[in-house]
Amino acid sequence: MADSLKINVTILPDSGLHLVFSEGPQWFENCFPPDAPPDISLRRVDVDCVITRSQDTVLVKGRFDAEISAPCSRCLETASLLVGADFLYTLIPARPETREDLELSAEDLETGYYTGDFIDLAPMLCEQIILQVPMRVLCAETCKGLCPRCGENLNTTSCRCREEETDPRLAVLKQFKVKK
Ligand SMILES: [Zn+2]
Ligand SMILES: [Zn+2]
Repeated sequence: MADSLKINVTILPDSGLHLVFSEGPQWFENCFPPDAPPDISLRRVDVDCVITRSQDTVLVKGRFDAEISAPCSRCLETASLLVGADFLYTLIPARPETREDLELSAEDLETGYYTGDFIDLAPMLCEQIILQVPMRVLCAETCKGLCPRCGENLNTTSCRCREEETDPRLAVLKQFKVKK
């Protein structure tokens, strides 16, 4: 499928439009403004969804499974993880005069608006992917992280900081006692 995921909702079949497709890293990056890139990257996403329409309301119902990568919050190495979810969007035509009110009172994140004859699946999918990223990404549950003193990655090396650990304040105190 091409870069654009714009769907003309005026020519949807009665039974709905069933779409199965995959996207990659570049597509995901293009979803965000260049000055505000996402803090994760997408390796691949597989999407399976059905788009139906009843009068002006368009429903987008489906599922995605994605492989993403992000820095591990303990050791900062790149961690990759699988995320996925079912989603359901209700899209209604945007009306300029009420648009602001609607956006402010939108309790439901998954209600959106469309203008003209087209809906764009890209922002919805990118939003869904971002929503599924855990607050703290870990390369492994057992990740040992970085040494707080020398910064070595404790998963791959063992430093000697812990062995040599003495409280510098105690060291000063000892010196005083010796001098007296
Ligand atoms: Zn880690
Ligand atoms: Zn260390």
